[in-house]
This record gives sequence, C-alpha cells and structure tokens, in this order.
Amino acid sequence: MHVLVVEDDAVLADGLSRVLGGHGMVVEVVGDGARADALLQRAGGAEVVVLDIGLPGIDGFDVVRRLRARGSLVPVLLLTARDAVEDRVRGLELGADDYLVKPFATAELVARLRALARRNTPKPTVLALGELALDLTARRARVRGNPVELSAREWAVLEYLLQHGARVVSKQQIIEAILPWGDDLTLNAVEVYISRLRLKIADAGVSIRTIRGFGYMLESAAARGADD
Ligand code: CA
Repeated sequence: MHVLVVEDDAVLADGLSRVLGGHGMVVEVVGDGARADALLQRAGGAEVVVLDIGLPGIDGFDVVRRLRARGSLVPVLLLTARDAVEDRVRGLELGADDYLVKPFATAELVARLRALARRNTPKPTVLALGELALDLTARRARVRGNPVELSAREWAVLEYLLQHGARVVSKQQIIEAILPWGDDLTLNAVEVYISRLRLKIADAGVSIRTIRGFGYMLESAAARGADD
C-alpha cells in the first residue's frame, strides 16, 4: 500500500514513516501542501493520504479541496489538533474520509489506513474475456450470452483465471485459491477442472492455454490472432 504522508513536523513525519514502513507500507513524506498537491496530480500516486491540516503555504483544507475538485477519490485521513472540532467538520465536509486527533496511537492509524484503502478498492461485478462473462453478483456464467452451468469448483478456477487476465497461474496457486471448498485437492484434480472448463467455454473465443511444467493462462482468440 502506497501512503503519502503530508506533515510539516519533521519528527512526527519521520516517526510515521518508520511505523508505516514497518507495517509493509510504501511511504512518501512531504512537508508542505504545495508539494503534496503536485504529487497527488501524478498518475498512479498514493492509495491513501495522511494529511496534517496546519501546513505552510497551502494548508490541508486546500489540499483536500483541490484533490476532490479534480475528481480524485483517493482516501484522505486528516491529522487534527485536540479540541479542533470545527477543523474536523470542515475537513470532512471538504471531502476528507476520516481523521485522527493528535496525539494518536500508531496502531489505530495503521488500522484506519488499511480500512480506508480496502473501502476504496473497487470490486468488479462482471469478469469478462472474449465472449465469456462471469457475473459475480448474480453468480452466473455466460458464453455468447448463453448461461453455462459450472460447479462451485469450476467456477472458482475460472474466476481465478479471469482475475489474472493474461498472466500465467500455477496449479498450486489455483489450489490455494479454491481451498475453501476442501483441503484434499491434488494437482490432478485441477487438471480435471480445467478440462471440464475447456469443454464448457469452447465457444467463447477464449481458451485455457497450458504452460507446460507450470500452469495455465487464459487467452482470447483475438490475442492468439495477433501473435500469428
Ligand atoms: Ca502542522
């Protein structure tokens, strides 16, 4: 998880950087609002922002306002002073998602950042490739618009392959992905599910390619054509 920390108190910023880094987060620290604003305009920037309100130059309120004015949905957690109720209200009204009052427990900050990042992860409702579509909400598989019956495990294997697009997945990865249904799966069982799926999606313009000695990947007819 990539976190942008905007904090002009160098000691606090350094502490946050070390704590969040220790929790496996990639942390970038800036000490003023203008640099934060510039960084947040970069594509593929932070997944979540920790934002102090009192900053030199552009303050935290302005950073949030500019961010939301650009249509960005990146979650923002404000750091506010004790007794600054109006600040918190104003920050939330401008589009911040959460706040913590200084001083705060770092464990709480970590938990809240993780919750914010999770909330912001869009969950696709339909996975599709070629003429194959899995509607995850209705739990329905379709090939060329026609419903296809899949067992729970076939569904799980196909969903996993679709989630990985054109990347190769190993048989072991597939087993781990569908383990909630049982712990006795063998590599051979995966081969059986794959061969059944191949028959069921034969008309979809999508094939499950075997990568010998490793695993499988989904390939659309269009991609195959482009390779030739
Ligand atoms: Ca400050």
